[in-house]
Amino acid sequence: MTQDRLGIFGGTFDPPHLGHMILAAEAADQLNLDHVLWMLSPTPPHKRQNIISDFEERAELVSACIEGESRFELSTLENERPGPHYTADTLKILKERFPDSKIVFLIGGDSLQYLPTWHEPQLVMERIDELGVMQRPGEVFDWKELKKILPDIDSKLRMIDAPLLEISSTEIRERVKSGHHYKYYLRDSVYRLILQKKYYLN
Ligand code: ATP
Repeated sequence: MTQDRLGIFGGTFDPPHLGHMILAAEAADQLNLDHVLWMLSPTPPHKRQNIISDFEERAELVSACIEGESRFELSTLENERPGPHYTADTLKILKERFPDSKIVFLIGGDSLQYLPTWHEPQLVMERIDELGVMQRPGEVFDWKELKKILPDIDSKLRMIDAPLLEISSTEIRERVKSGHHYKYYLRDSVYRLILQKKYYLN
């Protein structure tokens, strides 16, 4: 029997957009993932100053976004404990819940750059089997620095081959607010929810 390969894709997803979908889908294909858990972050430690939409609203948006994709699943695990929600702790819980799975942690290149600044980054690396990274535009990685802090990065890193997409949730929120088009950056189900619930207007 082959070991189940579980992708963990964490984010604020405020809102989830096509960049997220393409990352998750390419990761699933290229890294042979059986499932991708979209790990919705209540208030990520690095975004504490920002105003983030309600967890329930974002959960609804993620559900709409991944609808019909049988390998994708929303996880609200981080909302089940009080913050701060460090990734190292989440991974510990996941390893206990899925002892027989290979854990493949998925991030965009911006997150890779900042990984050394996360809480206990070595523990994060220790608790995953592989690290799937999809680049974002304009990124140049400081490999020397990354390897200095995370020596096992070489053996675990899997670069995901995908077009560089200049799509971000911040940009979409700004577009909604300023009345510019944003429809084609999102799945239609997410677009319709944002319109219907009047999200991001102020
Ligand atoms: P914000 O603009 O609010 O910071 P975001 O668009 O970066 O949001 P997050 O929810 O913070 O979205 O991202 C979740 C994960 O998806 C992160 O690992 C991030 O690097 C990755 N990601 C987001 N957008 C892209 C993209 N266009 N290409 C590749 N990875 C992406």
